[in-house]
Amino acid sequence: MSKRNFLFNTFMKKCPRCQEGDLFTKPFEFSKPISMPEQCPVCNQKFEPEPGFYYGAMFLSYIISAFFFLGVIGTCLIIFKLSLNTSMFILLVIAALTYMFFLRISRSLWINIMVKYDPKAKENKNTQSFGY
Ligand SMILES: [Zn+2]
Repeated sequence: MSKRNFLFNTFMKKCPRCQEGDLFTKPFEFSKPISMPEQCPVCNQKFEPEPGFYYGAMFLSYIISAFFFLGVIGTCLIIFKLSLNTSMFILLVIAALTYMFFLRISRSLWINIMVKYDPKAKENKNTQSFGY
């Protein structure tokens, strides 16, 4: 299988090493929104290689959502000419709806930055790969 685009793989929320295994447990449960298996079911890559691994994902989540929300507020105020209170209300609704999405995307992005793609991941099940 050829290497998939980095951003596409991030959005698909697949294991960065083999690009086949799912990063998050399915089906989705509201009580456990970011529940991940301990390791990839396909290539055995650990999804939490060290404690606090996803600490950095918090900053990514903050940056991504801040720019997104800024865009939402800007669109409401400038393009639709809504009042500030209405715009803030719309933002709150959108923020609540996209919260889980950004949480998962930032984790997926973080592990995709840290772990490199390995075309022979399935044969090298006993090793781990990290980008650092
Ligand atoms: Zn994998």
